[in-house]
Amino acid sequence: ETVVELTSVSKHYAHGVVALEDVSVGFRQGTFTAVMGPSGSGKSTLLQCAAGLDRPTSGRVVVDGRDLTTMGERKLTRLRRDRVGFVFQAFNLLPSLTAAQNVGLPLRLTGRRPDPELIGQSLEAVGLGDRARHRPAELSGGQQQRVAIARALVTRPAVLFADEPTGALDTGTSRDVLRLLRGLADAHAQTIVMVTHDPVAAAYADRVLFLADGRLHGELPDPTAETVT
Ligand code: ADP
Ligand code: ADP
Repeated sequence: ETVVELTSVSKHYAHGVVALEDVSVGFRQGTFTAVMGPSGSGKSTLLQCAAGLDRPTSGRVVVDGRDLTTMGERKLTRLRRDRVGFVFQAFNLLPSLTAAQNVGLPLRLTGRRPDPELIGQSLEAVGLGDRARHRPAELSGGQQQRVAIARALVTRPAVLFADEPTGALDTGTSRDVLRLLRGLADAHAQTIVMVTHDPVAAAYADRVLFLADGRLHGELPDPTAETVT
């Protein structure tokens, strides 16, 4: 089942800046995809368009069976909140709130009760069941990023987008976060799309897409290669 599908997506800015040009790609449920490419190649723009955080200039984006490109603002906001998770390089946790309160924020935003059970399950899923009452300053960088991942997962999104999630972490901590993402895909069939500069990080993914100048320049493993039997 394809959870996210982009068809001929282009994003142009003023003064002839082309951020994305004619990108078509699908993301199947339970796959962990890495998106690589030089700075300015359109990686963030691809993620933002796929997540409904940005509207393409042309083309179509379908998430969880719904066409974002024809959707009104209110519906788009709701879909983004309920069906899409987003993790950034900077963890973006609220410093005055505990881990559990941070994880509960998306539930409050959807007008739901910050269900302690859902929050607990999310913290368990990232291995931080015992850190619920800690504030961000009392957690390591890797733990803070795991809280951010728990927060992104608390609504049980169809897809988790991660923009350089290990960009602010050291090698060892990065590895823990990447193992966690790998485990979410393997054990929970969580669909994940991650932008990264780091080939070591990309090695945790099932599939790597390469962008250059806003265009898709191939992927690994090569989908056109003949299967060796
Ligand atoms: P990457 O994530 O690969 O570094 P981006 O998606 O951030 O690339 O940017 C792709 C191109 O689009 C770059 O040339 C960038 O300068 C341009 N760009 C991105 N956002 C904007 C914007 N809001 N206005 C104008 N140009 C932008
Ligand atoms: P089961 O269906 O046997 O509970 P799962 O693999 O679905 O097994 O879940 C194991 C644990 O991880 C449960 O506590 C579940 O609530 C939690 N969990 C599963 N998927 C997610 C997710 N996407 N986000 C947060 N927690 C999850």
